[in-house]
Amino acid sequence: MRPQKFHGRYPSEGRQCAAPGCSEPGEYRAPGSEGPSFDGPGDWRWLCLDHVREFNAGYDWFEGMTADEILAAQSPIAGWERETRAFRPGAGAMPRWADFDDPLDAIGARASEIRGRAQARQASREQAARFTAREREALSVMGLGLQADRAELRKRYSVLVRRYHPDRNGGDRSHEALLQRVVEAYQLLRGAAAFA
Ligand SMILES: [Zn+2]
Repeated sequence: MRPQKFHGRYPSEGRQCAAPGCSEPGEYRAPGSEGPSFDGPGDWRWLCLDHVREFNAGYDWFEGMTADEILAAQSPIAGWERETRAFRPGAGAMPRWADFDDPLDAIGARASEIRGRAQARQASREQAARFTAREREALSVMGLGLQADRAELRKRYSVLVRRYHPDRNGGDRSHEALLQRVVEAYQLLRGAAAFA
């Protein structure tokens, strides 16, 4: 086996570079139209060295992110800072390939991980804003998340009432205080704007 100069090199196994009109072997992989995400590993396109370099130079790792998300992505996070420096647009130098076992994998995965986290934070803020502080407390009494809908609220209430009601527990009143909290939480949440 030939020594592999670049860690990101894969035997082409007959694959041809995906760049239009290029007939070089496709030995380097780059994120495809659906890059890796929380939904799965994504797909890849196979490129020759020249074209993977071109691809990497023009790839916008922050595509689709807001200014705040980009700022968050650039804050010091272990393992990310060095990579950001190496790939900063306009830095002039080629990426330091030797720094990474598999540069495209490492950077692509990290970028979508950070993007995914920023999106999750944003979604969580939006969900939290649906409820008042008292309503959020009531949700936690009922063991419901911020994404709960009206159907889920009703379903959980009926489960908890059955679980804690003395009539359903052979007259055992040990859960009475808990049942009372659940009833109060439900009464509050039933009238919540988020469940209207
Ligand atoms: Zn090529």
